[in-house]
Amino acid sequence: MTIEDLGLEIHFVKENVILAPDSRSSEKFMHGIKVLMAKNYIDNLSEETKKGMREKAEQGTWPSWAPMGYMNVEVDKKKKIVPDPDAAPIVRRMFEWYAAGDCSLEEVRRRAVEAGLIGRRGKAPAKSKIEYALRNVFYTGLFVWNGQVYQGDHEPLVSQDLFRRAQEAFRKDNKPKANDRLSFAYTGLMTCAHCGCAITAEKKKGRYVYYHCTGSRRGCAKPAVREEALESLLGDVVRAVVVGQEVVDWVKAALRESHEEERTFHDGQIEVLQREYVRVQRLIDNAYEDKLEGRISEDLWQRKQREWGAALTDIRGRVENHENASRAYYDEGGRILDLASRAYDLWLQQNAVEKSKLLRVLLSNCTFDGTSLSPTYRKPFCWLVEGQECTNWLRGRGSNPQPSG
Ligand SMILES: [Zn+2]
Repeated sequence: MTIEDLGLEIHFVKENVILAPDSRSSEKFMHGIKVLMAKNYIDNLSEETKKGMREKAEQGTWPSWAPMGYMNVEVDKKKKIVPDPDAAPIVRRMFEWYAAGDCSLEEVRRRAVEAGLIGRRGKAPAKSKIEYALRNVFYTGLFVWNGQVYQGDHEPLVSQDLFRRAQEAFRKDNKPKANDRLSFAYTGLMTCAHCGCAITAEKKKGRYVYYHCTGSRRGCAKPAVREEALESLLGDVVRAVVVGQEVVDWVKAALRESHEEERTFHDGQIEVLQREYVRVQRLIDNAYEDKLEGRISEDLWQRKQREWGAALTDIRGRVENHENASRAYYDEGGRILDLASRAYDLWLQQNAVEKSKLLRVLLSNCTFDGTSLSPTYRKPFCWLVEGQECTNWLRGRGSNPQPSG
């Protein structure tokens, strides 16, 4: 991307493509798609991954590391989370101490460490870890994954009632929730149009979420907006990405062609490697005969055999790399397009956490001035947005799409 911004001419040897400021728009578009793919932005949006994780969550299995007081085990080749016989009783006591309301977090921590609680790396857990545990619904048998609450298949350590009393103790301490930042879906996505500071969020009156400029630089008007209003503005930003079926077909055809070119390159490399393989194999055969005939020592034979054996393994690995190299790439390109063409539908169907992921794929930045948003779309999505400078080629392209060469 940096080289591109310098206005230089870039030669992509493997793909047989030259990219220059005056390149055809279609070539620039394809390059944008490839850059996006290389950056793996869409990995966590992958339908298969999401489906797998969701299925696991729905079956009640927390798809990650066991929290404090539990451990990950494997029973009949199935991964499970069970109470840790040493730590679980201590964690239960922690809830009781804190729920009693006369015990600070630091005191809870002190008592827990005294009772023998140790963290994952064998050190005494920090106060923040204790707080995180005391706020984690996991201990009641539930868990939160991707913004949704699931019924876990793990054994609860505390009752709903004890958990609720511990949460009340937090309220009494008037401590703002440490992981609240995580529950604000759209932080870290926007900057203030006036001063350039980050837009962050906070909860007011315990229910309304407001987004506002952090305003650490002086003289900012600190625009603020309710989450509901912001979400509708962000929806417009997503809706602006428009990919007609015609464009999808055209880009897919171009991807296929570009894929074939890359295939040719890899096939050529594989041929070279295969010739090398045969050559090394012949060396081994000859040396073996030399050894049998007593022309070389057993020692030398052993050494050479190890050396050439390693070379053969190396060649096999490289052939495999070439075989796998471009397989995923064509599919990925298609997925990006599908994503773009369904962006607004996806937006409407998803919860805030997923919405925010989608935005992070589409946007590199977005400024907010208190009433409106000015998004900066990532390539190649910027080419698909009406009114953005780089969409001109699409309008001028006519109705009969041609694959790029
Ligand atoms: Zn500001």
